[in-house]
Amino acid sequence: MEYVDFLNSNARIVHNQVVKAGYQIIENSPYCLMAKQILALHNGREKKIYLCTQNLKNILVWSAPTGPRNVFAKSKVKQARFYMSKALTHEAVHAAQYCNNNNLIAPERSSSVVTDFKKQAIQLSLAVGGTKQREEEAYLLETNPAFVVAALKRFCF
Ligand SMILES: [Zn+2]
Repeated sequence: MEYVDFLNSNARIVHNQVVKAGYQIIENSPYCLMAKQILALHNGREKKIYLCTQNLKNILVWSAPTGPRNVFAKSKVKQARFYMSKALTHEAVHAAQYCNNNNLIAPERSSSVVTDFKKQAIQLSLAVGGTKQREEEAYLLETNPAFVVAALKRFCF
């Protein structure tokens, strides 16, 4: 369970809340191999969240040799934490949406401000089975772990 090292303190709180909601977290499932950019996936019916630690490490070129002072290794852990924490929080948004009968959990916040980077990410998410509105909401809320924890408590219990 290497992913635990890649979660910051807020993402750990999100993690504990999805586990309390009955979710199983599975690391490096074969589903991760569908596309090398996939960091995480959600399956509400089976109550599973997949985290693709190996894909993240490949993206960050984890095994590349580092300098004698190992500064790159340190910044890689930081980057890994940043991406994995957002990815888990993103999937936790989908968990809360699923608990809410697949409706949005913050419809009043829906925003049309979507960067090109997010547009690309949303295209990938749609390819693996999301819907546009739910994806936009998940990308909007993935940086707001406190809101996501509150939504899990509200909708999943
Ligand atoms: Zn998504």
